Amino acid sequence: MPMWNPWHGCHKISAGCKNCYVYREDYAFGSKRPTKEVRKTGSFRLPLKKDRRKNYKFPSGTEFALCFTSDFLIKEADEWRPEIWDIIRERKDCTYFFFTKRIDRLEECLPDDWGEGFENVGIGCTVENQERADFRLPIFLSLPIRHRIIVAAPLLEKIEITRYLDSKLIEEVSVGGESGKYARCLDFDWVLSLRDQSEAAGISFNFHQTGSYLIKDGRRFYIPRPLQHEQAKKAGLNTIHHRPDNFS
Ligand code: SF4
Repeated sequence: MPMWNPWHGCHKISAGCKNCYVYREDYAFGSKRPTKEVRKTGSFRLPLKKDRRKNYKFPSGTEFALCFTSDFLIKEADEWRPEIWDIIRERKDCTYFFFTKRIDRLEECLPDDWGEGFENVGIGCTVENQERADFRLPIFLSLPIRHRIIVAAPLLEKIEITRYLDSKLIEEVSVGGESGKYARCLDFDWVLSLRDQSEAAGISFNFHQTGSYLIKDGRRFYIPRPLQHEQAKKAGLNTIHHRPDNFS
C-alpha cells in the first residue's frame, strides 16, 4: 500500500499523541524544521504521477494510505485539501484510506459532492481511551462515510465500545500498541476485550501491531519494532466478517 503524504507535520491534541511517531522519526532523521509546522510535500500529487509512456505510475486499483505523517483533517491544510479531493475524483479507480484524531472537523472539510461518502474513501477514527472513544465515535457514526474503521491505537486502557458497534456502521476494529523507546504498555487483555466486542457484533477485527511493550499473563514483553506486526498476527485473533469487493 503506497503512502501518499501530501503534507507533513502535525500538532498534538490528545493522550494518544504523546509519543507520536512523526515527531520521533523527524527527530531520528535530524529534521531541521519543527514537526508542528505543517507543510506541503513534494508528493502532493502522487496519484497523478505518470511514467515515460504517459501512463499513471500507480495502476488502477492502487490502495493509497493517505496522510500518515500528519492528520488529513488538520486545520493548517484546509486550503490545500480541495485539491486532494480533485485528485481523488480524477483517480476514482484507486482507493484511499486515512485515519484521524480530528473527526470532529470532518464535516467542514468535505467537498460539496461528497453525498453519502465517496465509495473509494475509507476513514479510520482513532480512539486511544474511553474518554476519546465517547467523544469521537458518536460524531464518527453521525457523518456520511461509506467505509468506517475504528483504530484503537495506541490503546492506552481497556475500552468499552459495544454501543457503537451495534450500529452496524463499522467495518473493522483495528487495535495496536505504541512503539518507540518511551512507549506505554499494551495489555493483551484490552486487546482480547475488543476482539470479543467485535466478534459479538459480527465486525472484522485486526490486531495490527503489538507496540514495544506487551503485558500478557502478568509479564511484560519487549517486542522490537521489526517484529511488532508479525507478533500481533501470530496472536491469531484477526477475523474478517465483511469486506466490500471494491474496498480493502
Ligand atoms: S494526530 Fe497523529 S500525527 Fe498528529 S500529533 Fe497526534 S499522533 Fe501525531
